Amino acid sequence: MNLSEYDISNPYEATLVASERITPKTVTEVRHLVLQLPEGHFDFVEGQSIGVLIPGPHEFGNPRHFRLYSIASSRQGENGKGDAISICVRRCFYLDEVSGERYPGKASNFLCDARPGDRVLITGPYGSHFSVPPDDSANILMVGAGTGIAPFRAFVLHIYQGRGGWKGKVRLFYGARTGMEMLYRNEINRDLALYYSEESFQAFEAVSPRPYLDEEPTLDRLLVANQFEVWEMIQDPKTHVYLAGLAQAEEKFEKAMIVMAGSKEAWLKRRAEMIEQGRYAEVLY
Ligand SMILES: Cc1cc2nc3c(=O)[nH]c(=O)nc-3n(C[C@H](O)[C@H](O)[C@H](O)COP(=O)(O)OP(=O)(O)OC[C@H]3O[C@@H](n4cnc5c(N)ncnc54)[C@H](O)[C@@H]3O)c2cc1C
Repeated sequence: MNLSEYDISNPYEATLVASERITPKTVTEVRHLVLQLPEGHFDFVEGQSIGVLIPGPHEFGNPRHFRLYSIASSRQGENGKGDAISICVRRCFYLDEVSGERYPGKASNFLCDARPGDRVLITGPYGSHFSVPPDDSANILMVGAGTGIAPFRAFVLHIYQGRGGWKGKVRLFYGARTGMEMLYRNEINRDLALYYSEESFQAFEAVSPRPYLDEEPTLDRLLVANQFEVWEMIQDPKTHVYLAGLAQAEEKFEKAMIVMAGSKEAWLKRRAEMIEQGRYAEVLY
């Protein structure tokens, strides 16, 4: 869906209550932000996103700059507080292709620079298609990279903390440039690693073979290395597949799936079946 199609007519003010950098200073900045919501305003489920409106004036007469962020908390709220949610924001820059100059992205820099006590205008929540299946014997296959981990943090918290466990398989395949950029699983923040001991949960990590050249993490190879289990899950009608993060994660996933399915046509056919059965969802940007 195009950003201009989102309803932003009813924004409300949230207050930033915490901002923690969750990557070391030597790598790209990603922050975990906790927003306090006005009471009674906000019902959401894991996998949904909020809109953030950055006050103007902006170029081309735009009164507001609008961007989306996946909610990283479960429906129980951040730290069990129903009226607080978290988002995970990477400080972004864009490159002017003509001048070659690098400019700070408006929304992500506004959020990363905000300090506790600051007000943030938010809208939503949006996108209920990306949600945890109700039946706890369903298998869950989560694939993503970078900040695509945000909805999966929400899923895992809901499954193991909110619901108290899960019978089906829960598998996370996640790519980051380096081990230090494994969000919620590095030396600074271990929110996801806390659930590694859960019997039904297993997480797999891919890093870039040459991070200094900005090469993509080898998410496709990681999936193929585990193809016996992954393909068995894909074929199982009880499996739900979720993709999140930058569109490159989908490219890697598709590459691996073509290997497993035997051809691109076979994979697209399988994927179309899963979409029809409501077992395949993406949040890509
Ligand atoms: C449904 C949805 C959910 C999203 N969830 C998140 C989230 O949980 N966390 C998050 O940080 N962003 C998320 N984004 C991206 C976010 O909406 C903004 O696009 C991003 O923060 C950049 O906005 P900006 O105004 O700072 O810069 P812009 O000028 O809009 O973008 C600057 C550059 O950054 C690139 N970029 C955008 N997002 C990322 C990213 N996450 N990682 C690496 N490069 C990026 C863009 O391609 C562009 O080249 C989501 C987008 C969508 C559509």
